Amino acid sequence: MLLLLLQGDLVWFDPGLGYVLPGEVMEFHRAGQVITVQAVIGGKSQVFTLTNLSSVRRRQDLGPTGVEDMICLSNYTKISISSKVWSSAVGNTYTGSILVAVNPYRMFDIYGLDTVKKYEGQILGTLPPHIFAIGSAAYSRMSKDSTNQCVVISGESGAGKTESTKLIMQYLAAVNKSQSNLITEQILEASPLLESFGNAKTIKNDNSSRFGKYLEVYFKDGVITGARITEYLLEKSRIVTQAHEERNYHVFYELLAGLPEESKAKYGLTSADKYFYLNQGGSCQLEGKYDGEDLQALLSAMQVLGFSTQEQDTIFRILAAVLHLGNVYFHRKQLRHGQEGVEIGSEAEIKWASHLLQIDDEARNERVFTPLNIDQALDARDAVAKALYSSLFSWLVRRINQIIHKGSRKTHISILDIFGFEIFKENSFEQLCINYANEKLQFHFNKHIFKLEQQEYAKEKIDWQNIEFQDNLPLIELVARKPVGILHLLDDESNFPKATDHSFLEKCHYNHALNELYSRPRMSSMEFGIKHYAGQVWYSVEGFLDKNRDTLRNDVVELLISSKLSMLSEMFLDVRLSSENKTLTKANGRFVTMKPRTPTVAARFNDSLTHLMEGMAKCNPWFIRCIKPNNEKAPLKLDMPCVLEQLRYSGMLETIKIRQQGFPVRLRFNHFADRYRCLVPGQVPRADGESPRAFDSSFLWSTFLSDDSSTSVNHVSLVKVGTTQHIHPQEHFI
Ligand code: ADP
Ligand code: MG
Repeated sequence: MLLLLLQGDLVWFDPGLGYVLPGEVMEFHRAGQVITVQAVIGGKSQVFTLTNLSSVRRRQDLGPTGVEDMICLSNYTKISISSKVWSSAVGNTYTGSILVAVNPYRMFDIYGLDTVKKYEGQILGTLPPHIFAIGSAAYSRMSKDSTNQCVVISGESGAGKTESTKLIMQYLAAVNKSQSNLITEQILEASPLLESFGNAKTIKNDNSSRFGKYLEVYFKDGVITGARITEYLLEKSRIVTQAHEERNYHVFYELLAGLPEESKAKYGLTSADKYFYLNQGGSCQLEGKYDGEDLQALLSAMQVLGFSTQEQDTIFRILAAVLHLGNVYFHRKQLRHGQEGVEIGSEAEIKWASHLLQIDDEARNERVFTPLNIDQALDARDAVAKALYSSLFSWLVRRINQIIHKGSRKTHISILDIFGFEIFKENSFEQLCINYANEKLQFHFNKHIFKLEQQEYAKEKIDWQNIEFQDNLPLIELVARKPVGILHLLDDESNFPKATDHSFLEKCHYNHALNELYSRPRMSSMEFGIKHYAGQVWYSVEGFLDKNRDTLRNDVVELLISSKLSMLSEMFLDVRLSSENKTLTKANGRFVTMKPRTPTVAARFNDSLTHLMEGMAKCNPWFIRCIKPNNEKAPLKLDMPCVLEQLRYSGMLETIKIRQQGFPVRLRFNHFADRYRCLVPGQVPRADGESPRAFDSSFLWSTFLSDDSSTSVNHVSLVKVGTTQHIHPQEHFI
């Protein structure tokens, strides 16, 4: 396509860097399609001559400051939205009560107390977009209406959700009118503690949350009185395997880098590269992360949260035992009668593990490692490591809640930071759960932004042309609808002893081959494809059944219960209890106890998501859509296709449309009358006690509309209904 540009035109162009920059045309030779463009890079003006114009696109002029509220864009295009994003890399952009936050990958000094003070009590939209503006709006609304608020933070992995969560929490901590800071301090310290245990380096994010977190902060009379954390689905496979360039959970590396030598000797520990569970990713060091210092931060967080030295010791023992277990290996052993068995090749590691966990040395050998072949022995070893670590994680969350979940409460502000959408080269059961959770969130967003909004217009009989949005309900049904949604098929197969990953895949193909959101592989590989709202993902089904069953042999559970460490023993008493849940079923009019059907991982996750969504539905929502600027984690670099793709799939373009064409600003009739009566000639200020209804707003509109010369005519579009005045966005700025 030939471009026609003039000197002074604004463009996006790629100077050969693989991403586009904003620039201004200096010269354009139409015949030869050569263009000279000027751009400011790092504060310096540079000139580029381009012969390849494929990357050059027109750019809308948004003025020197860009547009802060995307609904104010007069002629929105995909490019114009992004130009704002670029024009202030630290910037956030409102779309009504949705904040679009672009991760700058560089810390700016814009989150201090002065900024808290600046945003405190301000009406949303009066100050430039900022994460604190959402915190402030949620806090004010809660205080004013005594209603619960929920800040829903979404975006793909590395987009900035966890940082945003922490910033909102910091804002709430700073503005709450508490005299005693202890509880607030404890809530704040819970974040780094859980990050040590629940975050890890992935190729997408050096500090990727491998669990979902729902934080409810309780208030009474504007004061924080307590909080509660709910965790979702910690990724267990990472404890025993990591992909290339990834790491295990931070805490292991922190421990090895930060513990003094004598403590390391006590736990039999050396350095990270010596442990199979830590070195599989190829690098134990993470640039820019100081594991040793982070251990000190972790220890002080534990102190603030009141962990006893004995509890700390047990935590370290469990972590060290996991590392020792990972280095256990096996030999093939010829048994009598020609049978083959295995023999432990590393007695020392086993001895360390049982010593640290204080379990009987003799018993464990027979009980844990008597399987028939090496693969099974390794699986048994990994299963114990995963159970130890994940039970420790759940224990930590419970322990933190014991401290912070207290006090009288009236209302809450909750913050949801769930793992972001993920597409890796190889995607497994974990990705299916994570991506399904993101689908549920997107559904919640769509419901509020499109469905409820348009239902309201219909109810109020506003002349309105429906805006189409990408409804992801069909996908949620494909994954989770009873009885043949993929997760239900998985559950059925998981409860059927003879089933295999292959038989599960066959069932998926059989039930869903005709669904356009579902794809079968071209070759007969062990995978299926799903078209998520954020893109197509291929899931490799190997290991699905085992991961979903996630059973630990009873004898292993009993062995761990027998530990002399009371904390460990209690942790596994809980495991025993949760697998003993018997179900009552009605048969022939009578209740009978069925054979216990241990809830699978997928079933539990689905239940917890349903519970979460029900809780969120009762809160007033605020949305923060985090955008990842590029896939290289590079500071202040905006990769246009990458950003646009996120804006597209998250429905932001339709959101802007509905906000632009619709009536996103609502005022109570009396507020409206008070605010605008001065515009009507001859109207006198309202006398005390006068009903606002006495003010005739239709008269106001006729005044405007009869004035042909008024430029505001084009922008004013109001509909009066019931007690609410629905206002078109531009009018709000009169
Ligand atoms: P997510 O939780 O969405 O996966 P994170 O919140 O962990 O992403 O952010 C990934 C990284 O991006 C952080 O470790 C940090 O380096 C950077 N980052 C995120 N938000 C900001 C911010 N507001 N300012 C500066 N850097 C940020
Ligand atoms: Mg995160």
